[in-house]
Formats: sequence, C-alpha cells, structure tokens
Amino acid sequence: MNEVKKPKKPLIFYYLIVLVILLLFNAIVMPRIAQLRVREVDYGTFMSMTENREIDKVEVKDAYILFTDKEENVYKTGIMDDPELVDRLHSSGATFSREIIEEIPPLLSFFLSWILPIIVFIALGQFMSKKIMQHSGGRNSMMFNMGKSNARVYVQSSNGIKFADVAGEDEAKENLTEIVDYLHNPKKYSEIGASMPKGLLLVGPPGTGKTMLAKAVAGEANVPFFSMSGSEFVEMFVGMGASKVRDLFKQAKEKAPCIVFIDEIDAIGQKRDGRVGGNDEREQTLNQLLTEMDGFEGNSGVIILAATNRPETLDPALLRPGRFDRRVPVELPDLSGREAILKVHARKVKTAPGIDYNKIARMASGASGAELANIVNEAALRAVRSSRREVTQSDLEESIEVVIAGYQKKNAILTEREKMIVSYHEIGHALVAAKQTNSAPVEKITIVPRTSGALGYTMQIDEGTKNLLSREELENKIATLTGGRAAEAIAIGSVTTGASNDIEQATKLARAMIARFGMSDDFGMVALETVSNQYLGGDASLACSPETQAEVDRQVVALVKKQYEKAASILNENRASMDRLAKFLYEHETITGEEFMAVLNS
Ligand code: ADP
Repeated sequence: MNEVKKPKKPLIFYYLIVLVILLLFNAIVMPRIAQLRVREVDYGTFMSMTENREIDKVEVKDAYILFTDKEENVYKTGIMDDPELVDRLHSSGATFSREIIEEIPPLLSFFLSWILPIIVFIALGQFMSKKIMQHSGGRNSMMFNMGKSNARVYVQSSNGIKFADVAGEDEAKENLTEIVDYLHNPKKYSEIGASMPKGLLLVGPPGTGKTMLAKAVAGEANVPFFSMSGSEFVEMFVGMGASKVRDLFKQAKEKAPCIVFIDEIDAIGQKRDGRVGGNDEREQTLNQLLTEMDGFEGNSGVIILAATNRPETLDPALLRPGRFDRRVPVELPDLSGREAILKVHARKVKTAPGIDYNKIARMASGASGAELANIVNEAALRAVRSSRREVTQSDLEESIEVVIAGYQKKNAILTEREKMIVSYHEIGHALVAAKQTNSAPVEKITIVPRTSGALGYTMQIDEGTKNLLSREELENKIATLTGGRAAEAIAIGSVTTGASNDIEQATKLARAMIARFGMSDDFGMVALETVSNQYLGGDASLACSPETQAEVDRQVVALVKKQYEKAASILNENRASMDRLAKFLYEHETITGEEFMAVLNS
C-alpha cells in the first residue's frame, strides 16, 4: 500500500527558485547580452578616435569608459591614468557626461526587466496548479486531499498483501473470501436478491492479523483501500470528526467498489451512555457514522471493515443488522496456525535446512502472529550478531526466550546461595508437574537471569490446543505453580520473594475456578464475577454481595493452600530426586526436558 502524502515542497520553495533564477540571469546573462552590443577596444584606439573627432558621446564609469561613434556604435575601453582626457574630449567636440549611453538597447532592457519575470511567474503558477490537480486526482498512489478533513487515505497498489501472506486464521479467511468474490462479481449476488453485509467487524486480541486481513481483502479483490484509525476522527472541535466521516464516505462512494477500513473502531464506537461530561465530539462522530452506513445502498460496492479488540464496549446501534452485522473472530493462532505463521515469516529470512518449526510453535504457546513475526526477526538479528549467514534452530529457540523473558543478563551475578535457591524453585515446579502427569512437563529449565527480572524459568510444552480444562487439571496447575515455593521451604528451610508471580497466577486461577467456572461445592453454578476486556488481559470484577465476597476469598485461600500441601507432599516423597535434579540444574544452568526426565528416572 502506498501511503498518501501531502506535497512535500511548500509554495515558498518554488518562489525561491524563481528568485534565484532571476538573480543568476542578472549576474550572468545580462552582461553577455550587453557584450553583444558593446565592442571592446584598447585605449590607443580610443585616443586616436578622439583625435580624429570620430566620437559622439563619452561616459566615464568607475571601472571603464563607454563611448559611441557617429553611427551610434557603442565601444568600451579600460580606464587609464590620463589627466588630459577631459581637455582632449572637450576639444574633440564630443558630449560627455554620466548615464548617457545605454549598454543594452532600451526595448530589450524593458523586456528583460518587466515582461520576462511576469512570464516566468505565470508559467510557475500554471505548473503548480497542474501539480495540485494531479495530486488530488491521484490515480495510483498519490494524495487525496479530503476537503476539510485532511484524512489520510491509502490506496491499493499492485504489490498489495494477499490472503497467502496471512497464515492460519482459516475461518476468518473463509468469511472474507465471500467479500472478495462479491467485489469481483456483484451481479451474481444482486441477481438472486442477496445483498452483502455493509460492514464486517474483525474482533480479536492485538497482533493477530486484523489489519493484514483487511488489506488482504483489498489486495485480493484489487480494489482501492481506504484506511483510517478510529482515533483520527476525533478532533478537538465538535463536528470535525463528523465532517471527516462524511468526507470519507463521499470519497469511498466515488471510488466504489472499494474497501473502507476503520482500525480501532472502539475509539469512536463506544457506547453512548449519556453520562454527564460525555464526549460530544465522539458521539457526533459516531452518529454520523451510523447515518452514513444507513445512507448507502447494500449493493453499492463499498464494504466497511472495522477492527477492534474491545467488542463489548461498542454501541449496540453500531452492531445491529444493516451496519456491522457480521462479526469475524480473529483469534490467537493454535499450534498449526503458529507453525504456518512462522513459516510465512521464515520465508523472508535465510534459514538453515531442517528447522523444526513444529517444535518452535510448541514452545511459543500463546504467542500472537505479531509476536511470532518478531521471534523470527529476533532470530535473524541473532544470526547476524554471531556472524552467521543463516538462521538456525537455536537462533529461533533463543529468540523465543528473548521475546518471552528478555535478553540474558550478562553481568547479573547470583550468589551461590541464590543460585541454589533458584535451582530448587524451578525444579520444584517441574517435579510437581512431572509427578502429576507422568510425562516430561517442560521443554527447558534455566537459571540464567533475564532482563525481564526473571532469575530462572521453566518453559512449558504445549501439546496441541486444549479447549476444555477439567477441575483436576486446573488443580494440578495450581499445585505446579505452588511447587516452586514448596521446594524452597523444604530444601532451604525458608522462603524468598521469588514466588510472587506464581502466587499471583495461582490466586487468579483459584478465584476463576470458584467465581466463574462454578467449581466450588458451596456456590455451584453461580456467576460471581464478570470478565471485561476479554482480548486485553481479561480483567475480572466480582459481582456479588460483600458477604459472598468474603466467603469467596476464604475458599480461594483454602483451595490454594490445599494444592500447596499436595505439592509439598509430592516433593517430600521425592526428596532424593529433587536434590539430584537441583544439583544437576545448578551445575548446568540450562537443562532440557529430556535431561530432566533422564535424571529423574536414573
Ligand atoms: P492487528 O491489526 O490484529 O493488531 P496486524 O494485522 O497489524 O495486527 O499484524 C501485525 C503484524 O503481525 C503483521 O504485520 C504481521 O507481520 C504479523 N502477523 C499477525 N498475524 C499474522 C498472520 N496470521 N500471518 C502472518 N503474519 C501475521
């Protein structure tokens, strides 16, 4: 896509050019023209012409002398130290004074100093207005100046993004293929009386490829693509946003068939709740958008795509049929999706043969498309840093850790005791997990400090996607989270601050089990909390009486405590294995899942 730009050079730039040209003209060209008329002679010729009374007029300048003969030819000669010059001229009968001889013929001089500049300015004006016309009618890539709104618009270019560039997201692509088909062949739909949805809402977490998908639709359909971010509509002055919306739709209708893409539509599409001090400008903009969407026919060829990661905040009027009536979920990629995305991005870098993308996809569980793109890029940077010409498996694996946990801290020095504690902590997690499932629970355990502040961490394996988690699995997860702290308590005899993140996660899980998943014996299937911002972290807020809240808190504490005790008893039973594993990790600093299992079973 080509971004549409304003003309780079301001008007003053062109006027300066003209000024420079005129100055150069005066300094270089004018003397040349003068030379054509003036003949240069030596002083001797001047003297003899004076004596022969051939001279008509004489003008003594600062640096030279101009004189004419009786036929009006102009001559020029240098100045000499000649005290009798005036007497001689007088006796020769010549007229002499200042400013009596024109070096340049008067007509030419008039032309050069008046007519020519006017011509130049007129030509410049013509050129400029032509240029501006070209810009605003820009057929392939130049600027649209959308009246008052100045909205930036992107237009489709030949090297647009295609569906093949968007990996995974098959459901979303299927949904959008229909739109492409419609844009190619609207007759097929109108003949049967079907009308395309006017608007599609792409919903999903950040970085999952919503913008990419919208561009791909435009690229596949080969139609212009207008793009604006929701926040760009909202201005300081009430009414400006509405006028931008009007302009956008006017442009779009002129260019139909085309695609209008509004990114982050929640910036203007939030519920109008009539609160005091509400945002008038935003509401007016939204009203205008609603009106415009009603205003054009279903089959006019303008398709509006909008993206958001906060669909629950959108105004219901925006979501009713006839406006954004189709919702396309763009979720975080699953295992095969992640693998496909990695491959798409790996095509852009030079890779060593035989890379196991599936393994990398498994390691990067929960990563979005944007994060996976970043992982591949980090790997390429790492390859350059170590002066290699290809990206290797280990580059990719290390870059996952960089993206998850930050770079290795080169100068962080853990004391021997701290290193020991971190080893026990990480082994505690892994051992509790392994004993509960009887399989290798981790991909890798490391106690190399990272810039994110983690002193060590355990990388879990994601064996495919799980859609349902049972109560036992959730309890096991909590036990695994508490395993680190339990190991510290058992092996070292005291506890440290290292478990704060585990505690937070374990508490969150336990609370969700009781308040949201109906997994407590007392409350049963009653929703005690609601989740807002499902795609942005998913904060939950309790929705129950203070007494129930107190009871929920009590049960959360009991649940986590029970799992902690379970973890502690697992570790106590396997005390010898734990010591062996912790020592192994302490010595090696980084161990793989296989090494872990081998030491455990030895
Ligand atoms: P969103 O609009 O959902 O926040 P974008 O469409 O802007 O996300 O995606 C950001 C970047 O992430 C893209 O430029 C692309 O490099 C990468 N990306 C995201 N999803 C995918 C995907 N499914 N396939 C390939 N690349 C992807």
